[in-house]
Amino acid sequence: MDNETGLPPELTHADIKEMLIRLKQSEARLDMVVSSTKLGTWDYKPLTGELLWSKECREIYGLAPGVKIDFELFVKQLHLADKQHVLELIQQAMDPKGDGTYDMSCRILRYDDGSERWVRSQGKVTFNLLGQVEFFIGTILDITESRLSAEKSARLGAIIDSSEDAIISKTTEGIVTSWNSSAERTFGYTSEEMIGQSILKLLPPERLEEEPMILARLRNGERVEHFETVRVTKYNQKINVSLSISPIKDAQGNIIGLSKIARDITEKKQEELRKNDFIAMVSHELKTPLTSIRTYIQVLLAKSKNEEDVFKMNALTRADAQAKKMTSMIHDFLSLARLEEGKIRITKEEFELHDLIEEIASDAQFLTTSHNVKVVDCKDIRINADRDKIGQVLINLLSNAIKYSPKGGTIIIGCAKNDNNLKIYVSDEGVGISANDQKRLFDKFYRVKDEKIKTISGFGIGLYLVAEILRYHNTEIKVESMEDVGSTFYFMMKCS
Ligand code: ADP
Repeated sequence: MDNETGLPPELTHADIKEMLIRLKQSEARLDMVVSSTKLGTWDYKPLTGELLWSKECREIYGLAPGVKIDFELFVKQLHLADKQHVLELIQQAMDPKGDGTYDMSCRILRYDDGSERWVRSQGKVTFNLLGQVEFFIGTILDITESRLSAEKSARLGAIIDSSEDAIISKTTEGIVTSWNSSAERTFGYTSEEMIGQSILKLLPPERLEEEPMILARLRNGERVEHFETVRVTKYNQKINVSLSISPIKDAQGNIIGLSKIARDITEKKQEELRKNDFIAMVSHELKTPLTSIRTYIQVLLAKSKNEEDVFKMNALTRADAQAKKMTSMIHDFLSLARLEEGKIRITKEEFELHDLIEEIASDAQFLTTSHNVKVVDCKDIRINADRDKIGQVLINLLSNAIKYSPKGGTIIIGCAKNDNNLKIYVSDEGVGISANDQKRLFDKFYRVKDEKIKTISGFGIGLYLVAEILRYHNTEIKVESMEDVGSTFYFMMKCS
Protein backbone atom coordinates (compact mmCIF):
# COMPACT_ATOMS: atom_id res chain seq x y z
CA MET A 1 0.00 0.00 0.00
CA ASP A 2 1.08 3.54 -0.72
CA ASN A 3 1.41 5.24 2.68
CA GLU A 4 -0.13 8.54 1.71
CA THR A 5 -3.01 7.52 -0.56
CA GLY A 6 -3.78 4.04 0.73
CA LEU A 7 -3.75 2.82 -2.90
CA PRO A 8 -1.68 -0.07 -4.25
CA PRO A 9 1.76 1.44 -4.98
CA GLU A 10 1.76 0.47 -8.66
CA LEU A 11 -1.17 2.88 -9.47
CA THR A 12 -0.02 6.31 -10.54
CA HIS A 13 -2.19 9.44 -10.62
CA ALA A 14 -2.35 9.11 -14.40
CA ASP A 15 -3.77 5.59 -13.93
CA ILE A 16 -6.38 6.86 -11.53
CA LYS A 17 -7.31 9.67 -13.89
CA GLU A 18 -7.67 7.13 -16.70
CA MET A 19 -9.85 4.89 -14.49
CA LEU A 20 -12.07 7.81 -13.54
CA ILE A 21 -12.50 8.73 -17.19
CA ARG A 22 -13.45 5.12 -18.00
CA LEU A 23 -15.89 5.08 -15.10
CA LYS A 24 -17.52 8.28 -16.35
CA GLN A 25 -17.76 6.80 -19.85
CA SER A 26 -19.42 3.64 -18.52
CA GLU A 27 -21.85 5.72 -16.50
CA ALA A 28 -22.70 7.80 -19.57
CA ARG A 29 -23.20 4.67 -21.61
CA LEU A 30 -25.44 3.18 -18.95
CA ASP A 31 -27.45 6.40 -18.81
CA MET A 32 -27.95 6.20 -22.56
CA VAL A 33 -29.10 2.58 -22.36
CA VAL A 34 -31.47 3.43 -19.52
CA SER A 35 -33.02 6.38 -21.32
CA SER A 36 -33.24 4.70 -24.75
CA THR A 37 -34.83 1.52 -23.40
CA LYS A 38 -36.92 3.37 -20.79
CA LEU A 39 -35.43 0.91 -18.32
CA GLY A 40 -36.32 1.81 -14.73
CA THR A 41 -33.94 1.05 -11.86
CA TRP A 42 -34.72 0.51 -8.19
CA ASP A 43 -32.77 0.10 -4.99
CA TYR A 44 -34.20 -1.54 -1.87
CA LYS A 45 -32.53 -1.68 1.57
CA PRO A 46 -34.59 -4.07 3.71
CA LEU A 47 -32.51 -3.26 6.82
CA THR A 48 -33.66 0.38 6.81
CA GLY A 49 -36.86 -0.18 4.76
CA GLU A 50 -35.64 2.40 2.24
CA LEU A 51 -36.84 2.07 -1.39
CA LEU A 52 -35.50 4.30 -4.17
CA TRP A 53 -36.95 4.52 -7.67
CA SER A 54 -35.31 6.13 -10.70
CA LYS A 55 -37.16 8.69 -12.84
CA GLU A 56 -37.89 5.98 -15.45
CA CYS A 57 -39.17 3.62 -12.78
CA ARG A 58 -41.60 6.28 -11.52
CA GLU A 59 -42.77 6.89 -15.09
CA ILE A 60 -43.54 3.19 -15.56
CA TYR A 61 -45.64 3.17 -12.39
CA GLY A 62 -47.14 6.62 -13.01
CA LEU A 63 -45.83 7.87 -9.67
CA ALA A 64 -45.47 11.66 -9.40
CA PRO A 65 -41.88 12.92 -8.71
CA GLY A 66 -42.58 14.30 -5.22
CA VAL A 67 -44.36 11.24 -3.80
CA LYS A 68 -42.28 9.09 -1.48
CA ILE A 69 -42.24 5.42 -2.27
CA ASP A 70 -41.92 2.60 0.23
CA PHE A 71 -42.30 -1.15 0.14
CA GLU A 72 -45.91 -1.08 1.33
CA LEU A 73 -46.96 1.36 -1.35
CA PHE A 74 -45.18 -0.78 -3.96
CA VAL A 75 -47.08 -3.90 -2.83
CA LYS A 76 -50.39 -2.04 -2.87
CA GLN A 77 -50.20 -1.44 -6.63
CA LEU A 78 -49.46 -5.05 -7.54
CA HIS A 79 -52.32 -6.73 -9.37
CA LEU A 80 -54.33 -8.85 -6.94
CA ALA A 81 -53.91 -11.97 -9.06
CA ASP A 82 -50.10 -11.65 -9.04
CA LYS A 83 -49.43 -10.18 -5.55
CA GLN A 84 -48.87 -13.45 -3.68
CA HIS A 85 -46.52 -14.82 -6.30
CA VAL A 86 -44.41 -11.64 -6.44
CA LEU A 87 -44.06 -11.52 -2.64
CA GLU A 88 -42.91 -15.15 -2.65
CA LEU A 89 -40.30 -14.43 -5.32
CA ILE A 90 -38.98 -11.46 -3.31
CA GLN A 91 -38.71 -13.70 -0.21
CA GLN A 92 -36.90 -16.37 -2.21
CA ALA A 93 -34.41 -13.83 -3.60
CA MET A 94 -33.65 -12.55 -0.10
CA ASP A 95 -33.11 -16.06 1.29
CA PRO A 96 -29.36 -16.39 2.01
CA LYS A 97 -29.58 -20.04 1.01
CA GLY A 98 -30.60 -19.10 -2.51
CA ASP A 99 -28.56 -17.48 -5.29
CA GLY A 100 -29.96 -13.99 -4.62
CA THR A 101 -31.44 -13.45 -8.07
CA TYR A 102 -34.89 -12.18 -8.84
CA ASP A 103 -36.75 -12.27 -12.16
CA MET A 104 -40.49 -11.88 -12.53
CA SER A 105 -43.22 -10.62 -14.84
CA CYS A 106 -46.46 -9.39 -13.36
CA ARG A 107 -49.33 -6.94 -13.73
CA ILE A 108 -49.41 -3.66 -11.88
CA LEU A 109 -51.98 -0.92 -11.54
CA ARG A 110 -50.53 2.50 -12.26
CA TYR A 111 -50.65 5.00 -9.42
CA ASP A 112 -52.00 7.86 -11.53
CA ASP A 113 -54.88 6.35 -13.53
CA GLY A 114 -55.15 2.80 -12.18
CA SER A 115 -54.56 1.36 -15.66
CA GLU A 116 -53.20 -2.16 -15.88
CA ARG A 117 -49.66 -2.68 -17.24
CA TRP A 118 -47.36 -5.65 -17.57
CA VAL A 119 -43.84 -5.22 -16.15
CA ARG A 120 -40.75 -7.37 -16.01
CA SER A 121 -38.40 -6.84 -13.11
CA GLN A 122 -34.98 -8.39 -12.57
CA GLY A 123 -32.81 -7.92 -9.48
CA LYS A 124 -29.81 -9.04 -7.45
CA VAL A 125 -29.44 -9.30 -3.69
CA THR A 126 -26.14 -8.69 -1.86
CA PHE A 127 -25.75 -10.17 1.61
CA ASN A 128 -23.44 -8.91 4.39
CA LEU A 129 -21.19 -11.18 6.45
CA LEU A 130 -24.08 -11.87 8.84
CA GLY A 131 -26.16 -13.22 6.00
CA GLN A 132 -28.45 -10.17 6.09
CA VAL A 133 -29.60 -8.45 2.93
CA GLU A 134 -27.43 -5.39 2.52
CA PHE A 135 -29.04 -4.18 -0.66
CA PHE A 136 -31.36 -5.42 -3.30
CA ILE A 137 -31.05 -3.63 -6.65
CA GLY A 138 -32.70 -4.19 -9.95
CA THR A 139 -34.32 -3.00 -13.14
CA ILE A 140 -37.87 -2.79 -14.39
CA LEU A 141 -39.29 -2.64 -17.90
CA ASP A 142 -42.81 -2.03 -19.20
CA ILE A 143 -43.54 -5.10 -21.37
CA THR A 144 -47.27 -4.44 -21.96
CA GLU A 145 -46.96 -4.01 -25.74
CA SER A 146 -44.87 -7.10 -26.37
CA ARG A 147 -47.08 -9.10 -24.00
CA LEU A 148 -50.21 -7.94 -25.85
CA SER A 149 -48.73 -8.75 -29.23
CA ALA A 150 -47.66 -12.17 -27.94
CA GLU A 151 -51.24 -12.72 -26.74
CA LYS A 152 -52.55 -11.55 -30.11
CA SER A 153 -50.31 -13.96 -32.00
CA ALA A 154 -51.30 -16.75 -29.64
CA ARG A 155 -54.97 -15.99 -30.40
CA LEU A 156 -54.24 -15.92 -34.14
CA GLY A 157 -52.30 -19.16 -33.76
CA ALA A 158 -55.33 -20.75 -32.11
CA ILE A 159 -57.59 -19.61 -34.96
CA ILE A 160 -55.12 -20.92 -37.56
CA ASP A 161 -54.88 -24.22 -35.73
CA SER A 162 -58.62 -24.69 -35.56
CA SER A 163 -59.08 -23.87 -39.27
CA GLU A 164 -60.51 -26.53 -41.57
CA ASP A 165 -58.06 -25.42 -44.28
CA ALA A 166 -54.39 -26.17 -44.39
CA ILE A 167 -52.54 -22.92 -43.63
CA ILE A 168 -48.86 -22.89 -44.44
CA SER A 169 -46.27 -20.15 -44.54
CA LYS A 170 -42.99 -20.39 -46.37
CA THR A 171 -40.00 -18.29 -47.36
CA THR A 172 -39.67 -16.98 -50.91
CA GLU A 173 -37.28 -19.90 -51.48
CA GLY A 174 -40.12 -22.29 -50.64
CA ILE A 175 -38.91 -23.36 -47.20
CA VAL A 176 -41.85 -24.10 -44.90
CA THR A 177 -41.92 -21.89 -41.80
CA SER A 178 -45.29 -22.79 -40.32
CA TRP A 179 -47.67 -25.70 -40.69
CA ASN A 180 -51.06 -25.93 -38.94
CA SER A 181 -52.96 -28.99 -37.75
CA SER A 182 -55.16 -29.07 -40.82
CA ALA A 183 -52.03 -29.15 -43.02
CA GLU A 184 -51.06 -32.22 -41.01
CA ARG A 185 -54.44 -33.82 -41.65
CA THR A 186 -54.47 -32.91 -45.35
CA PHE A 187 -50.92 -33.86 -46.31
CA GLY A 188 -50.06 -36.42 -43.63
CA TYR A 189 -46.77 -34.74 -42.57
CA THR A 190 -46.42 -33.39 -39.00
CA SER A 191 -45.12 -29.86 -38.48
CA GLU A 192 -41.82 -31.31 -37.22
CA GLU A 193 -41.48 -33.17 -40.52
CA MET A 194 -42.26 -30.11 -42.66
CA ILE A 195 -40.90 -26.99 -40.97
CA GLY A 196 -37.51 -26.24 -42.47
CA GLN A 197 -38.24 -28.51 -45.46
CA SER A 198 -38.91 -27.47 -49.05
CA ILE A 199 -42.55 -27.15 -50.11
CA LEU A 200 -41.55 -29.01 -53.29
CA LYS A 201 -42.00 -32.18 -51.22
CA LEU A 202 -45.75 -31.76 -51.86
CA LEU A 203 -45.51 -31.20 -55.62
CA PRO A 204 -45.90 -34.02 -58.11
CA PRO A 205 -42.87 -34.05 -60.46
CA GLU A 206 -44.93 -32.86 -63.45
CA ARG A 207 -45.99 -29.71 -61.57
CA LEU A 208 -42.64 -28.55 -60.22
CA GLU A 209 -42.72 -25.44 -62.40
CA GLU A 210 -45.82 -24.18 -60.57
CA GLU A 211 -43.86 -22.79 -57.62
CA PRO A 212 -41.72 -20.29 -59.59
CA MET A 213 -44.80 -19.42 -61.68
CA ILE A 214 -46.84 -18.59 -58.55
CA LEU A 215 -44.01 -16.52 -57.10
CA ALA A 216 -43.62 -14.60 -60.37
CA ARG A 217 -47.35 -13.84 -60.40
CA LEU A 218 -47.25 -12.57 -56.80
CA ARG A 219 -44.17 -10.44 -57.57
CA ASN A 220 -46.17 -8.86 -60.40
CA GLY A 221 -48.72 -7.82 -57.82
CA GLU A 222 -51.26 -10.40 -59.07
CA ARG A 223 -53.43 -12.30 -56.63
CA VAL A 224 -53.39 -16.07 -56.69
CA GLU A 225 -56.80 -17.24 -55.56
CA HIS A 226 -58.68 -20.51 -55.94
CA PHE A 227 -55.83 -21.95 -58.00
CA GLU A 228 -56.85 -25.56 -58.58
CA THR A 229 -54.03 -28.03 -58.75
CA VAL A 230 -52.77 -31.39 -57.53
CA ARG A 231 -50.49 -32.15 -54.59
CA VAL A 232 -49.03 -35.37 -53.15
CA THR A 233 -49.45 -36.52 -49.55
CA LYS A 234 -46.89 -38.26 -47.36
CA TYR A 235 -48.51 -41.55 -48.40
CA ASN A 236 -47.95 -40.79 -52.09
CA GLN A 237 -51.60 -40.11 -52.71
CA LYS A 238 -52.53 -37.39 -55.20
CA ILE A 239 -55.15 -34.95 -53.91
CA ASN A 240 -56.92 -32.05 -55.64
CA VAL A 241 -56.41 -28.78 -53.82
CA SER A 242 -57.53 -25.21 -54.28
CA LEU A 243 -54.78 -22.77 -53.30
CA SER A 244 -55.00 -19.13 -52.29
CA ILE A 245 -51.60 -17.58 -51.86
CA SER A 246 -50.71 -14.12 -50.60
CA PRO A 247 -47.38 -12.42 -50.09
CA ILE A 248 -46.05 -11.58 -46.62
CA LYS A 249 -44.40 -8.16 -46.88
CA ASP A 250 -42.00 -6.24 -44.66
CA ALA A 251 -42.53 -2.58 -43.72
CA GLN A 252 -40.90 -1.51 -47.01
CA GLY A 253 -43.27 -3.65 -49.06
CA ASN A 254 -40.67 -6.28 -50.02
CA ILE A 255 -41.98 -9.83 -50.25
CA ILE A 256 -40.32 -11.78 -47.42
CA GLY A 257 -42.48 -14.86 -47.47
CA LEU A 258 -45.71 -16.41 -48.65
CA SER A 259 -48.75 -17.61 -46.85
CA LYS A 260 -50.80 -20.31 -48.42
CA ILE A 261 -54.27 -21.67 -47.73
CA ALA A 262 -54.92 -25.08 -49.24
CA ARG A 263 -58.34 -26.69 -49.37
CA ASP A 264 -58.79 -30.34 -50.21
CA ILE A 265 -61.26 -30.40 -53.12
CA THR A 266 -60.81 -34.02 -54.14
CA GLU A 267 -64.47 -34.81 -53.41
CA LYS A 268 -65.68 -31.80 -55.40
CA LYS A 269 -63.38 -32.72 -58.29
CA GLN A 270 -64.71 -36.25 -58.41
CA GLU A 271 -68.23 -34.89 -58.47
CA GLU A 272 -67.25 -32.59 -61.36
CA LEU A 273 -65.66 -35.48 -63.17
CA ARG A 274 -68.87 -37.48 -62.93
CA LYS A 275 -70.78 -34.44 -64.23
CA ASN A 276 -68.31 -34.04 -67.08
CA ASP A 277 -68.57 -37.69 -68.02
CA PHE A 278 -72.32 -37.32 -68.16
CA ILE A 279 -72.12 -34.14 -70.25
CA ALA A 280 -69.61 -35.76 -72.59
CA MET A 281 -71.77 -38.82 -73.02
CA VAL A 282 -74.99 -36.88 -73.71
CA SER A 283 -73.22 -34.51 -76.08
CA HIS A 284 -71.73 -37.38 -77.96
CA GLU A 285 -75.13 -39.02 -78.35
CA LEU A 286 -76.65 -35.74 -79.60
CA LYS A 287 -73.94 -35.12 -82.17
CA THR A 288 -74.88 -37.86 -84.64
CA PRO A 289 -78.62 -37.11 -85.00
CA LEU A 290 -77.88 -33.40 -85.20
CA THR A 291 -75.36 -33.91 -88.02
CA SER A 292 -78.01 -35.89 -89.85
CA ILE A 293 -80.63 -33.13 -89.35
CA ARG A 294 -78.19 -30.57 -90.72
CA THR A 295 -77.46 -32.72 -93.78
CA TYR A 296 -81.21 -32.97 -94.57
CA ILE A 297 -81.60 -29.20 -94.09
CA GLN A 298 -78.71 -28.62 -96.53
CA VAL A 299 -80.29 -30.94 -99.12
CA LEU A 300 -83.67 -29.23 -98.78
CA LEU A 301 -82.01 -25.83 -98.94
CA ALA A 302 -80.28 -26.72 -102.21
CA LYS A 303 -83.58 -28.00 -103.57
CA SER A 304 -85.54 -24.89 -102.60
CA LYS A 305 -82.82 -22.72 -104.21
CA ASN A 306 -83.31 -24.62 -107.46
CA GLU A 307 -87.05 -24.17 -107.11
CA GLU A 308 -86.52 -20.52 -106.26
CA ASP A 309 -88.91 -20.89 -103.32
CA VAL A 310 -87.94 -17.83 -101.25
CA PHE A 311 -90.09 -18.68 -98.24
CA LYS A 312 -88.66 -22.21 -97.91
CA MET A 313 -85.14 -20.86 -98.48
CA ASN A 314 -85.51 -18.36 -95.64
CA ALA A 315 -87.09 -20.86 -93.28
CA LEU A 316 -84.41 -23.49 -93.99
CA THR A 317 -81.57 -20.97 -93.67
CA ARG A 318 -82.84 -20.05 -90.21
CA ALA A 319 -83.34 -23.69 -89.27
CA ASP A 320 -79.77 -24.35 -90.36
CA ALA A 321 -78.44 -21.42 -88.29
CA GLN A 322 -80.24 -22.77 -85.19
CA ALA A 323 -78.96 -26.29 -85.82
CA LYS A 324 -75.46 -24.85 -86.21
CA LYS A 325 -75.88 -23.05 -82.88
CA MET A 326 -76.82 -26.34 -81.24
CA THR A 327 -73.78 -27.97 -82.82
CA SER A 328 -71.52 -25.29 -81.38
CA MET A 329 -73.07 -25.71 -77.92
CA ILE A 330 -72.44 -29.45 -78.09
CA HIS A 331 -68.95 -28.67 -79.32
CA ASP A 332 -68.45 -26.52 -76.18
CA PHE A 333 -69.63 -29.30 -73.88
CA LEU A 334 -67.29 -31.78 -75.50
CA SER A 335 -64.40 -29.29 -75.27
CA LEU A 336 -65.11 -28.78 -71.58
CA ALA A 337 -64.94 -32.50 -70.96
CA ARG A 338 -61.71 -32.76 -73.00
CA LEU A 339 -60.18 -29.82 -71.15
CA GLU A 340 -60.92 -31.39 -67.79
CA GLU A 341 -59.23 -34.58 -68.88
CA GLY A 342 -56.27 -32.58 -70.19
CA LYS A 343 -57.00 -33.94 -73.66
CA ILE A 344 -57.43 -30.65 -75.52
CA ARG A 345 -55.09 -30.42 -78.48
CA ILE A 346 -54.10 -27.27 -80.37
CA THR A 347 -53.29 -27.79 -84.05
CA LYS A 348 -51.83 -24.60 -85.43
CA GLU A 349 -51.93 -23.64 -89.10
CA GLU A 350 -51.55 -20.35 -90.91
CA PHE A 351 -54.89 -19.08 -92.23
CA GLU A 352 -56.71 -16.02 -93.52
CA LEU A 353 -58.66 -14.53 -90.62
CA HIS A 354 -61.18 -12.65 -92.75
CA ASP A 355 -62.82 -15.78 -94.20
CA LEU A 356 -63.33 -17.26 -90.77
CA ILE A 357 -64.71 -14.03 -89.28
CA GLU A 358 -67.07 -13.42 -92.22
CA GLU A 359 -68.45 -16.94 -91.97
CA ILE A 360 -69.04 -16.62 -88.20
CA ALA A 361 -70.53 -13.12 -88.51
CA SER A 362 -72.99 -14.14 -91.21
CA ASP A 363 -74.06 -17.25 -89.25
CA ALA A 364 -74.63 -15.01 -86.23
CA GLN A 365 -76.64 -12.54 -88.31
CA PHE A 366 -79.01 -15.37 -89.29
CA LEU A 367 -79.83 -15.86 -85.63
CA THR A 368 -81.07 -12.32 -85.03
CA THR A 369 -83.07 -9.59 -86.68
CA SER A 370 -82.73 -7.03 -83.89
CA HIS A 371 -78.92 -6.83 -84.06
CA ASN A 372 -76.66 -5.57 -86.77
CA VAL A 373 -73.50 -7.68 -86.92
CA LYS A 374 -70.60 -5.78 -88.55
CA VAL A 375 -67.09 -6.92 -89.46
CA VAL A 376 -64.48 -4.14 -89.22
CA ASP A 377 -60.90 -4.08 -90.61
CA CYS A 378 -60.27 -7.80 -90.73
CA LYS A 379 -59.08 -8.08 -94.36
CA ASP A 380 -55.64 -9.41 -95.37
CA ILE A 381 -54.61 -10.68 -91.98
CA ARG A 382 -53.06 -14.09 -91.54
CA ILE A 383 -52.56 -15.73 -88.19
CA ASN A 384 -50.94 -18.94 -87.09
CA ALA A 385 -53.39 -20.65 -84.73
CA ASP A 386 -55.89 -23.46 -84.37
CA ARG A 387 -58.58 -22.30 -86.83
CA ASP A 388 -61.41 -24.34 -85.30
CA LYS A 389 -60.62 -23.28 -81.76
CA ILE A 390 -60.30 -19.58 -82.64
CA GLY A 391 -63.62 -19.99 -84.44
CA GLN A 392 -65.08 -21.47 -81.26
CA VAL A 393 -63.79 -18.44 -79.29
CA LEU A 394 -65.35 -15.97 -81.73
CA ILE A 395 -68.66 -17.86 -81.93
CA ASN A 396 -68.89 -17.77 -78.14
CA LEU A 397 -68.09 -14.06 -77.94
CA LEU A 398 -70.51 -13.22 -80.72
CA SER A 399 -73.37 -15.32 -79.38
CA ASN A 400 -72.89 -13.74 -75.93
CA ALA A 401 -72.91 -10.29 -77.52
CA ILE A 402 -76.30 -11.13 -79.05
CA LYS A 403 -77.65 -12.86 -75.93
CA TYR A 404 -76.69 -10.07 -73.55
CA SER A 405 -77.97 -7.19 -75.71
CA PRO A 406 -81.69 -7.88 -75.32
CA LYS A 407 -82.54 -4.49 -76.79
CA GLY A 408 -80.56 -5.16 -79.96
CA GLY A 409 -78.01 -2.71 -81.37
CA THR A 410 -74.78 -2.96 -83.32
CA ILE A 411 -72.30 -5.75 -82.68
CA ILE A 412 -68.83 -5.36 -84.09
CA ILE A 413 -66.33 -8.12 -84.66
CA GLY A 414 -63.20 -6.26 -85.55
CA CYS A 415 -59.42 -6.25 -85.87
CA ALA A 416 -56.84 -3.59 -85.00
CA LYS A 417 -53.39 -4.24 -86.40
CA ASN A 418 -50.17 -2.60 -85.28
CA ASP A 419 -47.13 -4.05 -87.12
CA ASN A 420 -47.54 -7.72 -86.40
CA ASN A 421 -49.50 -7.24 -83.20
CA LEU A 422 -53.16 -7.90 -83.72
CA LYS A 423 -56.09 -7.13 -81.47
CA ILE A 424 -59.29 -9.05 -82.19
CA TYR A 425 -62.40 -7.72 -80.47
CA VAL A 426 -66.14 -8.22 -80.21
CA SER A 427 -68.14 -5.27 -78.92
CA ASP A 428 -71.83 -4.86 -78.15
CA GLU A 429 -74.27 -2.28 -76.86
CA GLY A 430 -75.80 -4.61 -74.30
CA VAL A 431 -76.39 -4.79 -70.56
CA GLY A 432 -72.68 -4.55 -69.66
CA ILE A 433 -70.93 -6.20 -66.71
CA SER A 434 -70.19 -4.71 -63.27
CA ALA A 435 -66.53 -4.38 -62.20
CA ASN A 436 -67.09 -7.02 -59.55
CA ASP A 437 -68.48 -9.60 -61.96
CA GLN A 438 -65.73 -8.88 -64.48
CA LYS A 439 -63.23 -10.44 -62.04
CA ARG A 440 -64.99 -13.84 -62.01
CA LEU A 441 -66.43 -13.90 -65.52
CA PHE A 442 -63.94 -16.44 -66.86
CA ASP A 443 -64.41 -18.95 -64.02
CA LYS A 444 -66.05 -22.23 -64.88
CA PHE A 445 -69.86 -22.22 -64.45
CA TYR A 446 -69.85 -18.55 -63.42
CA ARG A 447 -73.00 -16.65 -64.38
CA VAL A 448 -73.87 -13.08 -63.43
CA LYS A 449 -76.84 -12.86 -61.09
CA ASP A 450 -78.76 -9.84 -62.28
CA GLU A 451 -82.44 -9.07 -62.63
CA LYS A 452 -81.94 -7.78 -66.18
CA ILE A 453 -80.65 -11.09 -67.51
CA LYS A 454 -82.22 -13.65 -65.25
CA THR A 455 -84.38 -14.99 -68.07
CA ILE A 456 -81.41 -15.53 -70.38
CA SER A 457 -80.34 -19.16 -70.23
CA GLY A 458 -76.83 -20.52 -70.28
CA PHE A 459 -74.39 -22.81 -68.50
CA GLY A 460 -71.53 -20.46 -67.69
CA ILE A 461 -68.95 -22.41 -69.65
CA GLY A 462 -68.57 -20.29 -72.81
CA LEU A 463 -66.17 -17.69 -71.41
CA TYR A 464 -64.28 -20.32 -69.42
CA LEU A 465 -63.60 -22.16 -72.68
CA VAL A 466 -62.67 -18.91 -74.42
CA ALA A 467 -60.13 -18.16 -71.68
CA GLU A 468 -58.71 -21.68 -71.72
CA ILE A 469 -58.41 -21.92 -75.53
CA LEU A 470 -56.64 -18.55 -75.61
CA ARG A 471 -54.39 -19.63 -72.74
CA TYR A 472 -53.34 -22.59 -74.90
CA HIS A 473 -52.47 -19.99 -77.56
CA ASN A 474 -50.36 -18.07 -75.02
CA THR A 475 -52.70 -15.13 -74.96
CA GLU A 476 -55.43 -13.85 -72.70
CA ILE A 477 -59.04 -12.78 -72.99
CA LYS A 478 -59.78 -9.31 -71.58
CA VAL A 479 -62.94 -7.31 -71.10
CA GLU A 480 -63.87 -3.66 -70.92
CA SER A 481 -67.43 -3.02 -69.97
CA MET A 482 -69.84 -0.52 -68.52
CA GLU A 483 -73.26 -1.39 -67.20
CA ASP A 484 -76.10 -0.40 -69.53
CA VAL A 485 -73.59 0.85 -72.13
CA GLY A 486 -72.01 -2.31 -73.49
CA SER A 487 -69.00 -4.62 -73.43
CA THR A 488 -65.92 -5.25 -75.51
CA PHE A 489 -64.11 -8.58 -75.23
CA TYR A 490 -60.68 -8.70 -76.87
CA PHE A 491 -57.41 -10.60 -77.12
CA MET A 492 -54.02 -10.08 -78.75
CA MET A 493 -52.29 -12.34 -81.28
CA LYS A 494 -49.30 -12.21 -83.61
CA CYS A 495 -50.17 -11.81 -87.28
CA SER A 496 -48.56 -11.44 -90.67
P1 ADP B 1 -73.40 -18.25 -70.31
O1 ADP B 1 -73.66 -17.20 -71.34
O2 ADP B 1 -73.72 -19.61 -70.78
O3 ADP B 1 -74.03 -17.94 -69.00
P2 ADP B 1 -70.60 -17.53 -70.46
O4 ADP B 1 -69.43 -18.21 -69.84
O5 ADP B 1 -70.57 -17.38 -71.94
O6 ADP B 1 -71.86 -18.33 -69.99
O7 ADP B 1 -70.74 -16.11 -69.80
C1 ADP B 1 -70.67 -15.99 -68.39
C2 ADP B 1 -71.48 -14.79 -67.93
O8 ADP B 1 -70.87 -13.60 -68.40
C3 ADP B 1 -72.88 -14.74 -68.49
O9 ADP B 1 -73.79 -15.43 -67.65
C4 ADP B 1 -73.18 -13.25 -68.53
O10 ADP B 1 -73.72 -12.83 -67.33
C5 ADP B 1 -71.82 -12.61 -68.71
N1 ADP B 1 -71.56 -12.15 -70.09
C6 ADP B 1 -70.89 -12.80 -71.04
N2 ADP B 1 -70.81 -12.07 -72.16
C7 ADP B 1 -71.46 -10.92 -71.92
C8 ADP B 1 -71.73 -9.73 -72.69
N3 ADP B 1 -71.31 -9.60 -73.95
N4 ADP B 1 -72.42 -8.74 -72.07
C9 ADP B 1 -72.85 -8.87 -70.80
N5 ADP B 1 -72.61 -9.96 -70.03
C10 ADP B 1 -71.93 -10.96 -70.57
